Amino acid sequence: MKSLMIVGAGLAGWTTAREFRRLDSSTPITLVTADSGDFYAKPSLSNAFAQGKLPAQLVSTPAAKMAETLKVTLLPRTRVTAIHPSARTVDTSAGVMAYSNLVLATGAQPITFPMSGNAAHRVLSVNSLEDFVQLHAQLQPSDIPSDNRRRHVLIMGAGLIGCEFANDMAQAGYRVSVVDPGARVLAALLPDSASAALQVALERLGVRFYLGNTVRSVDFAALDPDGQQPMEVSLAGGERIVVTCVLSAIGLRPDVSLAKAAGLLVERGITVDWRLQTSAQHIYALGDGAQYASATSKLSAHGATLPYVMPIMAAARALAANLTGTATQLVFPLMPVSVKTPALPLVVAAPQAGLEGSWALAKTETGDDEADIWHWTDAAGRTRGFVLAGAQTAQRQQQSKQLTP
Ligand code: FAD
Repeated sequence: MKSLMIVGAGLAGWTTAREFRRLDSSTPITLVTADSGDFYAKPSLSNAFAQGKLPAQLVSTPAAKMAETLKVTLLPRTRVTAIHPSARTVDTSAGVMAYSNLVLATGAQPITFPMSGNAAHRVLSVNSLEDFVQLHAQLQPSDIPSDNRRRHVLIMGAGLIGCEFANDMAQAGYRVSVVDPGARVLAALLPDSASAALQVALERLGVRFYLGNTVRSVDFAALDPDGQQPMEVSLAGGERIVVTCVLSAIGLRPDVSLAKAAGLLVERGITVDWRLQTSAQHIYALGDGAQYASATSKLSAHGATLPYVMPIMAAARALAANLTGTATQLVFPLMPVSVKTPALPLVVAAPQAGLEGSWALAKTETGDDEADIWHWTDAAGRTRGFVLAGAQTAQRQQQSKQLTP
């Protein structure tokens, strides 16, 4: 009998199951996942502290309910350890299983940074609800009375996730320091003056930036009066900062290990064609682990990775159509990203990777210093990207319509 196996219960895995069930109510689906399978919105991890949310409150639908609703056989806490494309089987921690079609929705892994010090193992990264449970436990231990102002978080990385956590934690009352080797915040997505505006807005909230600097070592410091174990972070610039928690937000790398070991074509991510198929027949991929041919990139003939929510929605719909017999090419719509920094909300439509062009501040007439628009214009004078700040984020749809695809 035909069957679909999905590996991974993140947004990509569950959305594929949901889109598939919309088109096919009877083909058996097995979802194998290393985690609990509970469904949660990962973006909510970086704005939960300010809302006072506990990790358990972030689960929007428990795994068993998801499985029942979508008629999925769920294997939680089960890891796929190898794929055998010619036999159409996978090895898992629960034994060997066969598939007709296999979807890899295995996501990405946090990049780690070599650090010395006897507390280096206490540095956390947050790329799952389980990671967030650990972060929450370090910052709000249940046995110690909560006084956020006495707790200090050091964030490594001033990119999207680092800035969002910095805003969230500062808003929740924590002292926050951010260390980044670059000269400005969110440099990968923003023009200089937009970076500066975001930095000023976060500093106004109390965030302290150490730019052009890196973490050298993390060591345990003397117990504080609460009985909590702080850490002392030494920076390459010579500064020493005593903190409660160190959060590494220096980026994610697509998890290509399974695919690579199975002989599938991988580059930055698991490469997939316009129909989401990998280089092996009957094996597909999407989500943070995939590199999409449909995401045009001048840097690679195999497209680009798109580690955001909107691409997953579009990819899952196209994949479900392909898996149920309707040949469908994935075409991504314009997908601006909202940066969840309430100190200065931003919407970014980044230009295609590898294009030649430059940013310029467009005129604004709101009388609000922080409500700005930047346009990215290519060599032929066409607008190919934008950044909207503050009240201008309301222009998202209008600006999107004016972009040259
Ligand atoms: P994941 O969620 O990583 O899921 C991977 C799944 O695969 C997991 O269930 C894992 O257990 C399983 N798995 C891995 N390997 C195996 C194996 N060998 N065997 C079995 N199971 C396996 N995007 C936006 O667009 N907007 C935002 O505001 C935004 N905010 C974000 C905030 C944070 C803090 C983070 C970390 C990301 C944010 N993103 C945002 C990105 C977005 O959340 C991700 O693109 C998306 O959630 C990725 O989903 P995924 O299913 O591809 O991967």
